[in-house]
Amino acid sequence: MPRKRPGALRAAQSARPARALPPFRIHGLSLRTSVATALVEALSDDYYLYPGATDRALRRYRAFLHPPGRRPRYPQDAECGCRGCSFDDVRHARDVLEEVVRRLPPSARNELRRHVRALDDRYVRRTLPDPFAAARQWRSEDWWRRRLSGGRET
Ligand SMILES: [Zn+2]
Repeated sequence: MPRKRPGALRAAQSARPARALPPFRIHGLSLRTSVATALVEALSDDYYLYPGATDRALRRYRAFLHPPGRRPRYPQDAECGCRGCSFDDVRHARDVLEEVVRRLPPSARNELRRHVRALDDRYVRRTLPDPFAAARQWRSEDWWRRRLSGGRET
């Protein structure tokens, strides 16, 4: 077998992590933050935080806020607690984003957090406060659960 030139060897080595972790870019985020996020997901021991979960959570959060107009939006409960169906509840998407932000290294964390906060601003404008959330809402310490919910998202 012919001996490889050192340059070719280095190129082969640097190509390896790229192959193991495809440059999967999360819409709206830099490649660097997308890769950091993919790493957090790959190393996660949390059932709800799996490869692709952050992208799905962002899409879900955006979709909830998407309908035009000023009519209030009401988060709805998910009928199944599995990690797919849980996204039926937009508040679950927000939980996932919170968890990823917490686990990211600082620069990636700041970028994702800025992104999520912009969506949070819209969420606050599009939902109504629930004054009785502490009594009737599961995990009401999370501010995004202290909003009126129920019915169907239409
Ligand atoms: Zn399910």
